[in-house]
Amino acid sequence: MNSKNNNIIDGRAIANDIAGELKIEAEKFYQLKRIKPKLSVIILGEDPASVFYVKMIEKSCQKVGFQFEKNNLKENTAQEDLLKLINLLNDNKDIHGVIVQTPLPKNINQKVIQESLNPDKDVDCFNPINMGKLALGNPDFLPCTPYAVFEILKREKIDLEGKHVVIIGRSSIVGKPLALILLLKDPNANATVTVCHSKTPDISFFTKKADIVIAAAGKAGLIRAGMLNNGTIIIDVGTNEVNGKLVGDVEFEEVAHISKKITPVPGGVGPVTNMMLMGNLLKAAKIQQKILY
Ligand code: NAD
Repeated sequence: MNSKNNNIIDGRAIANDIAGELKIEAEKFYQLKRIKPKLSVIILGEDPASVFYVKMIEKSCQKVGFQFEKNNLKENTAQEDLLKLINLLNDNKDIHGVIVQTPLPKNINQKVIQESLNPDKDVDCFNPINMGKLALGNPDFLPCTPYAVFEILKREKIDLEGKHVVIIGRSSIVGKPLALILLLKDPNANATVTVCHSKTPDISFFTKKADIVIAAAGKAGLIRAGMLNNGTIIIDVGTNEVNGKLVGDVEFEEVAHISKKITPVPGGVGPVTNMMLMGNLLKAAKIQQKILY
């Protein structure tokens, strides 16, 4: 990373700020209801990336003083048994948020699992009801990674109104909901959005016209300086392992020289994502206590 550049967005500092704000908000909620939000995570099997991610969630809960529990299930758990556990957690008043860690084993139908989550406890925003509310422009929850991108842009005071944002990636957990968020009729959104994906023939055609480029393809080295105008703002969501090193989708060293602002990998979107999950958990607890809505 080039330390001479002061255009590098510090995701860890933003995450710390959010953690501090959440602690204050959670303390007020505790004074009112004597409740500390509790997250229950279900993990099937021992996929190392999933185990690591769940550990990070646990640490985030500790950081803001929220309760955490992990339900370790065998990889070959029957879908019926998984659904039984989800229903128990859905009905448990002491649990405010439920996450079923993905990817799921092949014998489990992801669609059925997403639909089985109580929408009020769906802090990952995977349930079609929550995605539908977002698509209609009236969300309860925002999916954590796109929410982190939105929050970073807001905290960096990057005005999106009318700006041309090019998103690379159209997945249901990052690219697509991010486009919906940036299109919201919200003073911090109101962007003009283009979504590119693996079938877009010439991404440069779009990125050269962009004020802001958000890369979420999961392809190291996808975004090069020659594809951008000077002064473009770059948010790199991608996480790729190259020679044992974590890198984003953006060729960081060359792009950092020409961009107005850029998020690094690691230390950019990732740490903020976990804090947005904590924000969703607190919001879920408030919704369940009829404090919000
Ligand atoms: P995904 O594989 O589900 O989707 C990738 C998307 O990128 C697809 O829509 C695909 O069409 C598009 N794409 C792939 N190759 C492309 C190419 N060469 N040109 C243009 N488009 C291309 O992945 P995902 O779950 O959306 O995640 C995307 C990336 O973000 C991954 O690297 C993932 O690890 C990372 N991620 C990071 C965080 C975080 O908190 N930092 C969270 C979630 C995902």
